[in-house]
Amino acid sequence: MQSGHLFRYNPLFLSENQVNDTNSDQTVLYSDVALFEQEFCDYTGHQYAVAVNSCGSAMFLALKAVGVEHGDKVFSNAFTFTAVPSSIVHAGGIPVYLECNADYQVDIDDFRKKIKENPDVRYFLLSYMRGHISDVGEIKKICDENNICLIEDCAHSLGVRWRDEKDSESVHIGHHGIAACFSAQSNKLINAGERGDSCNR
Ligand SMILES: *Cc1c(COP(=O)(O)O)cnc(C)c1O
Repeated sequence: MQSGHLFRYNPLFLSENQVNDTNSDQTVLYSDVALFEQEFCDYTGHQYAVAVNSCGSAMFLALKAVGVEHGDKVFSNAFTFTAVPSSIVHAGGIPVYLECNADYQVDIDDFRKKIKENPDVRYFLLSYMRGHISDVGEIKKICDENNICLIEDCAHSLGVRWRDEKDSESVHIGHHGIAACFSAQSNKLINAGERGDSCNR
């Protein structure tokens, strides 16, 4: 942030031992953004990360990447932030809301009921509202049984770990879906501000 190099267009020259690039014995070109993506993956355990301007954009791109087309229904939490249904609508989709319990988790019985009522739904954008994790192991199982593609909205859950019953170790949340979207907006776990230095005012 302090360097002012927020974009991919002003890369730094770093030596091999400064970046973990085993394919090169030369000085390689790396932007701060690329280094951030790599550090982010190291932390969350994801294979790839792509930094974009907002989590809303990340969700939109994820929905488009998995094939959401105009008029496709997308399951989502009834209780979440407006960016979530907005990204579904932006991608051309129609949100189908799932009831949440008092702990902000998706109601699994309602999920099963809504699948029966909407057998054509092929996508689910699942939010972890305020860091509360729904029963994602069960949700993923139901998704697989019903040919539903799961995307995780981790805007509130950077740093949250989760352990499925079958596993002995916990992992960083965001590994059940085909993609996980994180936010660095000023109210989230890492604050990268909004529009330059406005977060400082
Ligand atoms: C803030 C938020 C988003 C979107 O994040 P932005 O980076 O502001 O686009 C997505 N989901 C939830 C639950 C949020 O609170």
